Amino acid sequence: MDSGDTRRLLAEAARRAAAYLDALDGRPAGPLPGAAETLAGALDRPLPEEGRDAQDILAFLDDFGSPATVASAGGRYFGFVTGGVLPASLAANYLAGAWDQNSFSQVSSPAIAAFEAAALRWIKEALGIPMAAEGALVTGATMAHFTCLAAARNRVLKQAGWDVDADGLFGAPEVTVVVGEEAHATLFKVLSMLGLGRKRVVRLPCDDQGRILARDLPEIAPPAIVCLQAGNVNSGAFDPAEPLIGWAREAGAWVHVDGAFGLWALASPDRADLAKGVAAADSWALDAHKWLNVPYDSGIALVADAGALSDAMAISGAYLMSGERREAMNVTPESSRRARAVDIWAALSALGRKGVSELVERNCRQASELADGLRQAGVEILNDVVLNQVVASFGSDERTRAVVARIQDEGECWCGATVWHGRAAMRISISSWATTHEDIGRALSAMLKADREIPRD
Ligand SMILES: *Cc1c(COP(=O)(O)O)cnc(C)c1O
Repeated sequence: MDSGDTRRLLAEAARRAAAYLDALDGRPAGPLPGAAETLAGALDRPLPEEGRDAQDILAFLDDFGSPATVASAGGRYFGFVTGGVLPASLAANYLAGAWDQNSFSQVSSPAIAAFEAAALRWIKEALGIPMAAEGALVTGATMAHFTCLAAARNRVLKQAGWDVDADGLFGAPEVTVVVGEEAHATLFKVLSMLGLGRKRVVRLPCDDQGRILARDLPEIAPPAIVCLQAGNVNSGAFDPAEPLIGWAREAGAWVHVDGAFGLWALASPDRADLAKGVAAADSWALDAHKWLNVPYDSGIALVADAGALSDAMAISGAYLMSGERREAMNVTPESSRRARAVDIWAALSALGRKGVSELVERNCRQASELADGLRQAGVEILNDVVLNQVVASFGSDERTRAVVARIQDEGECWCGATVWHGRAAMRISISSWATTHEDIGRALSAMLKADREIPRD
């Protein structure tokens, strides 16, 4: 392939991508009917003997892949708190793909090392997290939990005179792990991966919004790790960080915060109070591919004590942070990696501090507006709408599930089903730059239409 062919090929990929995005407004929010089956059929063939023309490959992707996609980049996709993708970040991602940089070290890519340092600095500035915190750009909040809690585990055991890095967990002092009973499922998966166990954790009771009750707290002693939540995946509620961090500190515990999407509230003067006190924690897990609207996969782990992170993640045993040359492979669980920093840096460049704050505030207002519209039509809203999350019930569990299925089938918008306090519910997560006032109106009409069409209990 000569350079002219490459140029035409990349231009064609960009043309198809732009056409795809342009068409989102007029297509269903879920896959087009039958498209996923058609794609699976077209893919069901053995590895070809001979390679295929790259333009044909693009055409295949677009003809068979595009219709089978979920329109999560569009303005009426409200599933899983995953935002859309900002054009500036998508374009940066294209270019960084062409760079083909390996982000594991300064030598493999001084450029990406510089972008990582800059992106992490801006994230801390946006959120008001202490600037001394060190960070890792990982695949998502799940791996961010893993990164932070590995640092936590090793550090609290080190303080108890045990070296996990060298000796593993066999014979180690027991670590008390405290979580709220509404903690996200990924946290338990990570506790299992780290040898801390899913079942042996202390679960603190929560109020009706999913917030840990900061009263009658148990007595705990080191080594201990307390996990708080900034943004419940259903209600959007925040654990009361100030009293809980005060209690955990007195007990000598490490405090970790799951702020996958909710931590971005710190970037908005209007909503920052929800997360008040959270900046005093020891570690924070959040996603860039949620509210910051960058391409997948993109999570961020931040650890206040840089040494605790590098002790747990250094590629060859104990490693001292020089303070000058940050080596990604010594602060992240992975070695070879793509250039996630470029997408994040581009998103923050495009939005600025004001833009991040406006994105958060706009989505929160849209959630309130949608909740008000549903409530006025007699739909029961099960949560206090404090952020970007709305949890709705349409009557019995059976009827609610039927309404959610109807909404998904009709495709005007996409919302997922969830269970909240034992009841089936529909969860609406508004976290995209692409969602407009008109989208909210169209989504509300579609929800009320489905509600009218499903027989009453
Ligand atoms: C999405 C989410 C996670 C998991 O994030 P991934 O990026 O999918 O790994 C964890 N906690 C909360 C509160 C979330 O919303």
